[in-house]
Amino acid sequence: MIIKEIKVKTILSASKVYDWVINPYVGCRHACSYCYARFMKRFSGHKEPWGEFVDVKTNAADLLRVEITKKKRGRVWVSGVCDPYQPLEAKYKVTRKCLEILAQNNWPVIIQTRSPLVLRDIDMLKEMQALEVGLSITTADDDVRKLFEPGTPPIEDRIKALDELHKAGIKTYAMIAPMLPGADGLVELLKGKIDYLLIDRMNYHYADWVYRKYGFEDKLTDAFFQQTRQKLAMLT
Ligand code: SF4
Repeated sequence: MIIKEIKVKTILSASKVYDWVINPYVGCRHACSYCYARFMKRFSGHKEPWGEFVDVKTNAADLLRVEITKKKRGRVWVSGVCDPYQPLEAKYKVTRKCLEILAQNNWPVIIQTRSPLVLRDIDMLKEMQALEVGLSITTADDDVRKLFEPGTPPIEDRIKALDELHKAGIKTYAMIAPMLPGADGLVELLKGKIDYLLIDRMNYHYADWVYRKYGFEDKLTDAFFQQTRQKLAMLT
């Protein structure tokens, strides 16, 4: 695992999904097999496999403190091409420091993570006025999770995190993307823990080999997607 501390030139970037996006890290230790963000290797010049390098943007908060005074207030997505609460965040707190600045300036924030480490910041998150926290959860079956995303925290821990955040009065959502085998079981697990659900049929082709290796090819079909989406619609 290659970890580098780097200085970047900007941190608050325009986003096509929300108004702005902050990526506190380059790379992601979670190393999901289907991860679309691996295109970042091209831009960062990394030759290591996806998940085997992380650059830590140590000057992110310093930049944000300045950029937030110069850019138009808008919704900020944390994060787009890395997990803001991947394991290194426990040590570096780059995400935490950026969120503090966004909170002080009262900018609306959408956090998206696969990690219950987000609970570390719950006291601050509770005080933020316009905040949504989403946990990405792709299946209810932790054995399936281990096949596709062995570097991520267990499903049970993510469900508990959603529950705790929701009970704390924070607006929560679950992001199901990609929809892995066993995703329909999330109806029971998520009930009463989220304000809304996002389902995105992403391009899975990076993980085709996992589907083939474990005989899940039928879970790549339109029929599987539509049936599972119908079941999950009970949550909305
Ligand atoms: S947590 Fe997100 S950014 Fe990180 S490897 Fe998984 S899909 Fe990619």
